[in-house]
Amino acid sequence: MSEILVTGGAGFIGANFVHHWRKTHPDDAICVLDLLTYAGNPANLDGLDGVELVAGDIRDTALVERLLRDRGIDRLVHFAAESHVDRSISGPDAFVSTNIDGTHSLLKAARTVWLDEGEGRPHRFHHVSTDEVYGSLGPNDPAFSETTPYAPNSPYSASKAASDHLVRAYHHTFGLETSTSNCSNNYGPYQFPEKLIPLFLLNALHGRDLPIYGDGMNVRDWLHVEDHCRGIELVLENGKPGEVYNIGGGEELPNMAVIDAICAAVDRAFSDVDGLAERYPDASAAQGKPTSSLKTFVTDRAGHDRRYAIDCRKIERELGYRPHNRFAEGFAATLTWYLANEDWWQAMLKR
Ligand code: NAD
Repeated sequence: MSEILVTGGAGFIGANFVHHWRKTHPDDAICVLDLLTYAGNPANLDGLDGVELVAGDIRDTALVERLLRDRGIDRLVHFAAESHVDRSISGPDAFVSTNIDGTHSLLKAARTVWLDEGEGRPHRFHHVSTDEVYGSLGPNDPAFSETTPYAPNSPYSASKAASDHLVRAYHHTFGLETSTSNCSNNYGPYQFPEKLIPLFLLNALHGRDLPIYGDGMNVRDWLHVEDHCRGIELVLENGKPGEVYNIGGGEELPNMAVIDAICAAVDRAFSDVDGLAERYPDASAAQGKPTSSLKTFVTDRAGHDRRYAIDCRKIERELGYRPHNRFAEGFAATLTWYLANEDWWQAMLKR
């Protein structure tokens, strides 16, 4: 039996990863270290055995050292971050502090406990990052690969880029056994309703505008969070120390196509699911109007990257990764999850 430390495990992807790891590694103890900011919710871990939540800060190096040392933890997966681009534009300081200083604090603790005190005992530090570090693509540019030069454009992506470089440096300089994965836009259960899919779903249910940045033609690759978690598991178990792996969903879509899918799915749900019109009387669909009537163009996000696309042939070739979820089905299941878990998102909206 071993114990894994999951930072940010009460947030969206971290919590999905903890659920996944519980299923695939039933004998492992799991320690979640999470500051429980607006995005972290202990309820995301409800019903899981063998998971301990420590409410604390990754910037508290002494706390991280104690967790690694006292529990004999040999694997750390690092999700904790400030993660929302719009918030990084209105308040970049928190992003620099959590994403850069926080990652450095974890690296220092791992170096002390695993390398200095543990004399290099077997260990792995896995860092979860984003494709946004590579910048923005033109319509005909090749997709981001692991060798694409970094060109981050937002305070969020710049802070993640800096953290990626620190992880790389701790491997090359000190010999820490690290790995990094850079992934595309995730969707699925437990995503805080500030990101595009849950925000638009909940706005549609309440008859509120669907605010579309710019012309709505910014392109993203969409990755179901379950596929992302399986990709991270592959890297943790078989990825080479010091390596970087891109993880994607293989589905590039303009935002407008995602928004149209949301509108169509909400309209369908109102005709197929009994009682929805009574639960959400303000929805356009409850009033006989299409959800698409809520679409509203708003001023574009400052510095909005036009296109991200991800080349994940390396993880496919070396580790056998394949995304299992197609967007249409994965998205339909996500809508069903949000409709079935209103208590969860109502509580999140009050945080
Ligand atoms: P999230 O905002 O839902 O969750 C972040 C979690 O980190 C929260 O539980 C929060 O409480 C915790 N946290 C924040 N500051 C902390 C601190 N100082 N100490 C301890 N915990 C702290 O984020 P997410 O969408 O789940 O993203 C997880 C990781 O994946 C991030 O590193 C993000 O950069 C990366 N990522 C996300 C996406 C995406 O589409 N969501 C895409 C690419 C990469």
